[in-house]
Amino acid sequence: MALSIVQFPCLSDNYGVLIHDEATGRTASIDAPEAAPVLAALSAQGWKLSDIFTTHHHPDHVDGNLELKQATGCTITGPRDEADRIPGIDILVADGDSFDFAGHTVRVIATPGHTLGHIIYHLPEDKVAFVGDTLFALGCGRVLEGTLDQMFESVEKVGDLPEDTVLYCGHEYTEANWRFAITRDPDNARLIARGDEIRRLRAEGRPTLPTTVAIELETNPYLRTRTPQLAVSAGLPAGTPAEIFAATRRAKDVFKG
Ligand code: ZN
Ligand code: FE
Repeated sequence: MALSIVQFPCLSDNYGVLIHDEATGRTASIDAPEAAPVLAALSAQGWKLSDIFTTHHHPDHVDGNLELKQATGCTITGPRDEADRIPGIDILVADGDSFDFAGHTVRVIATPGHTLGHIIYHLPEDKVAFVGDTLFALGCGRVLEGTLDQMFESVEKVGDLPEDTVLYCGHEYTEANWRFAITRDPDNARLIARGDEIRRLRAEGRPTLPTTVAIELETNPYLRTRTPQLAVSAGLPAGTPAEIFAATRRAKDVFKG
């Protein structure tokens, strides 16, 4: 049976996400930025938390772990390579692992770069992936621990998922990401149109997420490193995709938009 998925804001710009299987009652929180909004979303739905799936060790993704575990007795699954920094972790997973969540296959994919042990969770039968701070709508995570080459490979892994995969991301950064993206890809009609949509949604206080692989392939500068315009904007007309990615990511780091 299809999973029910609920997304809600946490902290200043994080998203919490709950996934729920009706037949078994199993419910997982993707990351746990803070306990209170997760508990409020659970009670609004009438769901009981069974699991937390952690993407990486940053406080805005794990700070709710212990309080939620204490309140619900949930099991915490997270990246083996960051296990010592994930409060309450019970099950350690790594690249290439798959496990069962209430009859749904969950694949673990390593995406180092933002942090060295960052992982994403892909549910192929449900056509959904939880990508944490690896990819955002029109953006990607800052490269804080790994190399730009690692982050390029990690972002490509998301882009290589089936195009109809729905992507849930860790943060609502889309409007700021658009302001940078349009400077790199100014003639992209889909990007221009998406800007109107994003501003309308945000003006109404609504989320711009989730997104899809197809939408990001058409508009996200970090997934468009093979298009001539991105090469020109990077000042690297003959650059490799990895070089164009690195130049684009570096330019964003100092962009004042
Ligand atoms: Zn992070
Ligand atoms: Fe984050």
